[in-house]
Amino acid sequence: MRLEALTKTFPDGTEAVKGIDLDLVEGRFAVLLGPSGCGKTTTLRMVAGLEAPTSGRILLAERDITILPASRRDVGFVFQFYALYPHMNVRNNIGFPLDNLGVNPADRDARVCATARRLGIESLLDRHPNQLSGGDQQRVSLARAMVRDPSIYLMDEPLGQLDTNIRLELREAIRSQQLETGVTTVYVTHDQEEALSLADDVIVMNEGRIEQIGSPEDIYYRPETLFVANFVGSSGMNTVEGTVRRVEGNAVFRSGSGSLQLSQPTATGDVTLGIRPECVRIVPTGSISGSVRISEYFGDHHLIHLDTDFGDLSARSAEARPVGERVRIDFDVNRIRLFDPRDGGLLQ
Ligand code: ATP
Repeated sequence: MRLEALTKTFPDGTEAVKGIDLDLVEGRFAVLLGPSGCGKTTTLRMVAGLEAPTSGRILLAERDITILPASRRDVGFVFQFYALYPHMNVRNNIGFPLDNLGVNPADRDARVCATARRLGIESLLDRHPNQLSGGDQQRVSLARAMVRDPSIYLMDEPLGQLDTNIRLELREAIRSQQLETGVTTVYVTHDQEEALSLADDVIVMNEGRIEQIGSPEDIYYRPETLFVANFVGSSGMNTVEGTVRRVEGNAVFRSGSGSLQLSQPTATGDVTLGIRPECVRIVPTGSISGSVRISEYFGDHHLIHLDTDFGDLSARSAEARPVGERVRIDFDVNRIRLFDPRDGGLLQ
């Protein structure tokens, strides 16, 4: 799928999508991630043919589909809301897209059963939608999209309304089905954890623009903007405002009463330093001093909030720490990101 300078301005003047370019290789699972209102749904609806772009082009398998009607685009679309046919049982709801394609009854039955089995709803095939829980209704709606092999799946927060357990289970079902069929998928979510866990490619959007495209690891450890650094990660990146100076040939970062030697030469001047909590280590030999303000327990780790020479910082730790404890900390200098405080762009 290729998007070229795609824009959408609504009649009331809202610029929902501001000229995005995207080249998605066949077979990839791409996740559009961003805060509410950043233009994810509008982008997906343009690809589906439910919304006309203001300008730009959409190509699917090298074919320009920008003005093709939705019914001729060969996309499988899954919404957050179930939209099942209430008068049809589950079997017929799932089989409906195959009936439209004229698939013979034996094949239709086999494909409906196989898809229902994958999503754990085989025993519900003779029920009607009003006899199903919300989770099961969404399973049926996923099954209806997955029962055929479209050129591309488009999924708009399909798991948004569901309980955590069902969400995790269906997330896995979606991913394993996609890996098996190899159908290119674009999945929209505002949940960064969901994005990192599902995607081959994460596309981070903000205010109608693409901030960064990359693997989950790139997005998490190598954010290219302050926005991505703050938006991704359950507690966001630590950020520290300071300056970089050259001292005896080394680049040294200074902020508050602390200083830190950087591993690589960098431009000097004002910077915003970014570092993930798991790259802040509490060690006796650390060059930065601080004290424990609060310790939060997360089951498999503690998040220790510290008052330090550099101001407030969070460190991930295997052990709890008593409030008020004096500690020394160090950064994994290879994981430091330096941003331009004026525009949030990457310096190093
Ligand atoms: P969410 O996760 O909340 O759905 P989103 O990232 O999917 O958000 P969009 O639904 O694409 O965002 O909306 C992008 C912007 O366009 C928002 O400011 C929204 O209010 C606006 N918008 C969406 N639909 C219309 C419309 N029909 N007319 C005017 N503005 C609209």
